[in-house]
This record gives sequence, structure tokens and C-alpha cells, in this order.
Amino acid sequence: MESVNIVVIGAGVVGLAVAARLAENNDSVYLFEKNQRYGQETSGHNSAVVHSGIHYPKDSLKAKLCVRGNAMTYSLCEKYHIPFKKLGKLTVAIGEEDIDEIDKLMKMGHDNGVSDMKLLDGRQVKELEPNVEVKKALFTPTTGILEPDELMNHFHAQLRKHNGNLVTVTEVTGIRKGKDNYELTGTSVGEKFTIQAKTVINSAGLSSDRIASMLNLDIDRLGYRIYPCKGDYFRVAGRPLVKRLVYSVPKGAGLSIHLTPDMTGSIRLGPNAYYVDKIDYTVESSEKEFREDVAKFVPKIREHQIREDSSGIRPKLQGPNDSFRDFIIKHETENNFPGFINLIGIESPGLTAAPAIAEYVNDLVGNEIKK
Ligand SMILES: Cc1cc2nc3c(=O)[nH]c(=O)nc-3n(C[C@H](O)[C@H](O)[C@H](O)COP(=O)(O)OP(=O)(O)OC[C@H]3O[C@@H](n4cnc5c(N)ncnc54)[C@H](O)[C@@H]3O)c2cc1C
Repeated sequence: MESVNIVVIGAGVVGLAVAARLAENNDSVYLFEKNQRYGQETSGHNSAVVHSGIHYPKDSLKAKLCVRGNAMTYSLCEKYHIPFKKLGKLTVAIGEEDIDEIDKLMKMGHDNGVSDMKLLDGRQVKELEPNVEVKKALFTPTTGILEPDELMNHFHAQLRKHNGNLVTVTEVTGIRKGKDNYELTGTSVGEKFTIQAKTVINSAGLSSDRIASMLNLDIDRLGYRIYPCKGDYFRVAGRPLVKRLVYSVPKGAGLSIHLTPDMTGSIRLGPNAYYVDKIDYTVESSEKEFREDVAKFVPKIREHQIREDSSGIRPKLQGPNDSFRDFIIKHETENNFPGFINLIGIESPGLTAAPAIAEYVNDLVGNEIKK
């Protein structure tokens, strides 16, 4: 039976970043992906925003890895000529009742070390964005956009440069703990396979709870169960309504419907947030819902045509009635699985945080090897 050093399960942006980072100082790193290409699930269905870090409680992994990931992502983009635009974001208070929320976000941003934030009144917002009518806004200049595929191509190139291996059409279906390694079974291009690995990283996104349960970990007791939560997007036709990202204050399970320019300047609306029980990327929401929500702060949307665009599905740990849940990035030594690292619930800001998550996992793996 073939024996390797490290297997990373799942080639989304996080698995790619992790495998590329580990390949820098480890031999025989393998990244397994069930689809024909990397980045076909959540990493290919998102808002493509480099978040600043204002939305997450102090000292959470989401806060720390977002702020660090933001800086790391921009420096990667500059160094390797990955296209990006640091457009800045306005988080807006539509009515008086939202103003407290804006102040809370500003405080959270301060606590998390987000730099250069500014509070703007309605007139100042209109000077920046003439189509936006609000009471107050928080401006975060470090928010930006990029093309997720380009970032993933970069991590893939780094993985190959360091002799790591991406193996596509390869699905892990079983894991068994051996004496000092793990035996992984599955199918690769229609054929069954078995392979041994000293270290396994579970970066399987929406299936990461299923992968954890292959070890017989009790995912409900440990709080590892994923509640898929979908978000749809619509695209606005005609002249762009805004130049920057414009979000209303977060409500419910997502960050609220927002306006996000893409790299061509065209504006997407969304995503909304609703829990689903199957992985299906069909847009299910109505144009009316989106138009009415956005018209509360960009009335001109009524003059524009909008059409269905795409959707994404968040691998949420937070169920419909739960409060904030952080990323789980955990070496399972205490559950008696040394050398097994679970990454579960890597929803937003996972794209932004990917290089910082990779650094974090690299430290976890390094500590294990030193032991
Ligand atoms: C609607 C939406 C908007 C978002 N917007 C943003 C944003 O603007 N900014 C931001 O920072 N973050 C955003 N996010 C979050 C971000 O997209 C994710 O955090 C990130 O893409 C997660 O990457 P991943 O590699 O963990 O997961 P994925 O991209 O889902 O990758 C997991 C991979 O594992 C593979 N896999 C699963 N099971 C197996 C198996 N058994 N064997 C082999 N392979 C397997 C899958 O095929 C998949 O390719 C958004 C998410 C959504 C849903």
C-alpha cells in the first residue's frame, strides 16, 4: 500500500493554500479533490471580497485570521501580480435604528485591529456614492475584491513549485486510524484506492463534518455539524450604481444583501441567507425581494433591470437559532487522533483568511512533528 506524508482533503481555496504552505517544508504532500477541477464548490461561489475584519468578535479565529489574511492576501496579490481592487466598503445605517449597529461594528473593528476606519454622515456618503441615501456609514478602506480563481491558480502553482501533488476526481470515503498513521480509502477516477498518511488535514468544506464522522467523532457532541446556508445573487444591468462595496448592517445568518462591484465594475446584489438541506446551486429567490431590500438605501435600483446570477452555500456551524460560531481549526490530539487536523465551518471570511489559515495549520503540523 502506498504511504505518504500528508494528505489534505478538499481543494477549495483553503485546501489549496494549506497544501501549498505545507509543501514548502514537507515532502510528499497530496491534495485530494473529488471534482474534476479545484474550486468548484464554495470557493467558486462567493462574493470575492477581501474582508477587513469588522464583523467578528474580538479574539475569535475569524477576527484574527481575517485581519491577518487581509494583509497577507494584498501582499500576495502585489508580489505575484494577482489582480485585485482595494475599493473600500460602506456599511450603511438606513434608519436611526441601525446607527447603534454601525457604532458596534466600528468598536469591533478597533478591537480587531482594523485600520483607517471612518464614520461618515449621510451627506459625506452621498459625496462618495451619489446613489446611496442613508443616515450614517462606516467606511473601511481595506475592504477589496479579487478574482478567487486567480488566487486559487496562484496557490496551485505554489503547490506544484514545491513538488506537492493535486489529485482530482479522487474522493475520500473512509478513514481508519492505524498505529502511527491513517488509512484513507475512496475512489479515484472510478477505481478504488487505499493510501496511508502520517498527517491528514480535513478541508472538505460542506462535507467536512462527514469527513470528521468517518473517524467516529461524535459531530453533534463536539459541535461539528454543518448547517448548509444558501445565498443567491442577482446582477444589475446598465451603468454601475456604485463604485465601492455597499452593505446594509448585518441581519440574520448572513451579512445582509449588499452591492458588490466585480473586477469589471459590474454590480452584483446579494447574497441573502436561507438554510437548505441539499447542495443545489439553482437561484431560488425572487427578484422582488432583492429589489425591495436594496431600494431602501439605493432607490435608483428601481430604474435598473436585475437578473439571476448565481448562488453559493455556506458551510455554517451556526444553525437557524444559534448565535455566533467561530471557525473550528483543531488538531484532534485530545480526541485521540494525533496527526489529524479538522477545519470545519470555514464560511466567510474563509476566502480572505485562506493564507492566514494556511500559516495557522502549518504551525499545528510543525508542533506535531517536533513532539
Ligand atoms: C454566498 C457566499 C459568499 C461568500 N463571500 C465571501 C467573501 O466575499 N469573502 C470571503 O472571505 N469569504 C466569503 N465566503 C466564504 C468563502 O467562500 C469560503 O470560506 C471558502 O471558499 C471556503 O473554502 P474551502 O476550501 O474551505 O471550501 P470549498 O471551496 O467548499 O472546498 C472544499 C472542497 O472539498 C472537496 N471535497 C469535499 N468532500 C470531499 C471528499 N470526500 N474527498 C475529496 N474532496 C472532497 C469539495 O469538492 C470542495 O472542492 C462566502 C461564502 C458563501 C457561500
